[in-house]
Amino acid sequence: VSMWSQVEAAPKDPILGVSELFHADKDPSKMLLGTGAYRDDNGKPLVLECVRKAEKKLIEDAKNMEYLPTQGDNQYISRSLDLAYGKEIGNAEAIAGIQTLSGTGACRLFAEFIARFKKGAVCYVPDPTWSNHLNIFRDAGVETKAYRYYKADTRGLDFDGLKEDLGNAKEGDVVLLHACAHNPTGVDPSEEQWLEISKLFKDKNLFPFLDSAYQGFASGDCDKDAFALRMFKRDGHAMALAQSFAKNMGLYGHRVGTLSIVCASKEEATVVESQLKVIARAMYSSPPLQGANLVSTILGDEKLNALWLTEVKMMADRIIDMRAKLREALEKSGSTMGWKHVTDQIGMFCYSGLTPEQVDRLKDEHHIYMTRNGRISMAGVTSKTVEKLAQAMHAVTT
Ligand code: PLP
Repeated sequence: VSMWSQVEAAPKDPILGVSELFHADKDPSKMLLGTGAYRDDNGKPLVLECVRKAEKKLIEDAKNMEYLPTQGDNQYISRSLDLAYGKEIGNAEAIAGIQTLSGTGACRLFAEFIARFKKGAVCYVPDPTWSNHLNIFRDAGVETKAYRYYKADTRGLDFDGLKEDLGNAKEGDVVLLHACAHNPTGVDPSEEQWLEISKLFKDKNLFPFLDSAYQGFASGDCDKDAFALRMFKRDGHAMALAQSFAKNMGLYGHRVGTLSIVCASKEEATVVESQLKVIARAMYSSPPLQGANLVSTILGDEKLNALWLTEVKMMADRIIDMRAKLREALEKSGSTMGWKHVTDQIGMFCYSGLTPEQVDRLKDEHHIYMTRNGRISMAGVTSKTVEKLAQAMHAVTT
């Protein structure tokens, strides 16, 4: 027998599995609406102009390619935190920060940190959530529990359910919140609801962990998309934050992110940071260089930063426009189902309400690919394909 004969094949990842099926399809009009990666109106991946300029600048500056320290590039970390916390940053020295392998790496590092230093704490995750959250906490050995979040009948927030479930959490439990543009539902609490959630966390002494994968990419405005995380900071919570520059700077493959943990003092932050470094050292030793250099260059240069803000808004606006066009085309198609949620939801994803069987029919009869929970990556829709998508959605829902 071979060494690995007893190993069973792993189940396919629900998101990556969709891409595999798509690539095997020979139909020329096939559409991929699975993975959350931005496409321009011709359906092509986009590299931002500010990124191209920063690349040139980095070549001209002829930086070396030495290892970054284990915690990453300190200037990058500080600029990344400024972008997130804005004027609510307060005493930056009391925030432990570490450069991570994008948002996934930030979540994973934090999960490891809880496993080591908050043994027995449960991490509450919204139902539903980005499927990888569950893998991340599982592999770190942290128990997760779901809290109610999405209400199928209203295609909106189950606010009462959320409050009841989190009201039953134990003091010191960790609660994962999507900072904006909840994935997969596109449903976010209103500003008033966020304030109530913050108060509930204070009353129950819960620990907020905000996952911010879409700052600027959701509404087009980096400040607006940071509302929830800045509110938690302003309200004085001990909290943690995962940031990703995959979507908002289009740096998917560069793996640039930040984990920050708001501590009680500078001394505590130094201690926490030292332990984060121990975890990172054994996992990957130090993070990648180029992506952090790009982000730091863009955030640190007035002109490039201004250019980036227009470009991130352009991406957000295209998605918002596609939502409007999809809803309009569905309503014009004669569909009698309500499609208001298509434009009420925010961010890259539209949680369409299509059933798994309807999603299968879209694939089999129309060559349109999405995850079986009915999540449509709006970034994959273009002005040339939106009509076909609407027709197909109408066909499988009547
Ligand atoms: N968190 C959420 C909610 C996401 O939607 C994503 C990406 O889809 C991520 C984190 C992390 O992505 P990345 O690791 O590419 O930064």
